[in-house]
Amino acid sequence: MDTSRTRTPQSIWETALGELQVQVSKPNYRTWFSTTTGLSFQDSRFTVGVPNTFAAEYLDRNQRSLIESALIGVVGKAVSVIFHVTGKSNGNGSHSGNGNGSADISLPHIDPVFTKLNPHYSFENFVEGPNNRLARAASQSVAQNPGHSYNPLFIYGGAGLGKTHLLHAIGQAAAANHINVICTSAEQFTNEFISALREKTTEEFRNKYRSIGMLLIDDIHFLSGKGQTEESFFHTFNELHNTNRQIVMTSDCPPRSMPLLEDRLRSRFEWGLIVDVQPPDYETRLAILKNKAQRRDVSIGPDVIEFIARESHTNVRVLEGLLNRVIAYAKLLRMVPTLDIAAQALEDVATKEYLAEEITPSSIIEAVAESFQISIDTIIGRKRDKDTSLARRMAMYLIRQETNCSLAQIGREIGNRDAASVTSACKLISADITSNPFIKRKIKDVQRQLSPQDTRQNN
Ligand code: ADP
Ligand code: MG
Repeated sequence: MDTSRTRTPQSIWETALGELQVQVSKPNYRTWFSTTTGLSFQDSRFTVGVPNTFAAEYLDRNQRSLIESALIGVVGKAVSVIFHVTGKSNGNGSHSGNGNGSADISLPHIDPVFTKLNPHYSFENFVEGPNNRLARAASQSVAQNPGHSYNPLFIYGGAGLGKTHLLHAIGQAAAANHINVICTSAEQFTNEFISALREKTTEEFRNKYRSIGMLLIDDIHFLSGKGQTEESFFHTFNELHNTNRQIVMTSDCPPRSMPLLEDRLRSRFEWGLIVDVQPPDYETRLAILKNKAQRRDVSIGPDVIEFIARESHTNVRVLEGLLNRVIAYAKLLRMVPTLDIAAQALEDVATKEYLAEEITPSSIIEAVAESFQISIDTIIGRKRDKDTSLARRMAMYLIRQETNCSLAQIGREIGNRDAASVTSACKLISADITSNPFIKRKIKDVQRQLSPQDTRQNN
């Protein structure tokens, strides 16, 4: 029966939302779907109303096929979806920041807390690419509309991909709007808390954090498993969040992958928006290098830039290092940085990479162990906690992908397991790769580590 004739677009959409709610994570649903509406349904085109262009772009890029299948399930025929920005957020509270009904508390005027923000880490200096577009847009959104767009904002990703840069950029934009910002690392926060305990100044510590307008915490994964500091951070978080003060955190992994984090903190980290930064593709690496060379005011040919961009893999910090090395080398020789000079400057870096060893089961196990920060013995051993099991499955999957080993051989390499366990591990990981971005990234990270000169990072 074609129910779509008799139902309003909104009621079709509500049924589809019911379906989507079970398919995406809770925070994801709350952030992206709960504020949408069904606007119209004509000629198999279904229009979904979204509160802003940011949401439209996100849904269009990341959830289109999921949404379309949900709609097809409801109306029983092919549907293509269109997102229309309505500027309204489905009655779920004001996001406009004008205090309309939200618990805006006028902040006590206090002297700005001294935080070191790196002036180079600004939005202008941050080169956008497909790998960081969403994280950048979300960062700008919270900087412009702190406490009202996405709170908390949680940015995660691998090393040297610009997380700290974005955090400081938010801080600078907010400070320019006279918001009292604290930008600190979870490690500093912990040290400060411990010394407050020792010196019995926890009250001051609390007051300091309670009085600010925005809290930026770098590398929050450091808190994981640090009971008392977690507790203190939990209270700080609640006090700030309850009064709409913006919180932004960075981490090397998403909250769900922080095994030692208390659940009540984990769930709070998932309240707002979680975005990741990925390694830059070749084009973005080129753009970043051009930008850095320009700012350093050195003239360096496009061929040299391309050479460096090809050289380095995933980490922007390393990429910058290579550029600096070429510039320094040329300066030393009092020559302009030509392709030859660049090749010489990077020679030993390059040979190290190009002579990358052959990929073997043990090199894979080693790389996985390193990526999970556990020992090789643990991977091939009998422990069965969540992290170890995941690492073990990933090692099996990667050996299957990267070598010609048979299932039985793989089983032997991974602590004498049988072929059936290898098969099931490979199946699980293959399924996870499509549904779990964290696992997809982890796999890519290890693959890159195994063969840094590989071109697969370009896609
Ligand atoms: P992370 O905190 O993710 O480890 P950082 O923010 O410290 O990484 O970035 C490492 C270096 O790379 C910094 O110098 C930063 O300015 C630079 N960088 C990273 N991403 C970009 C980008 N998209 N555009 C310009 N510079 C970048
Ligand atoms: Mg950092």
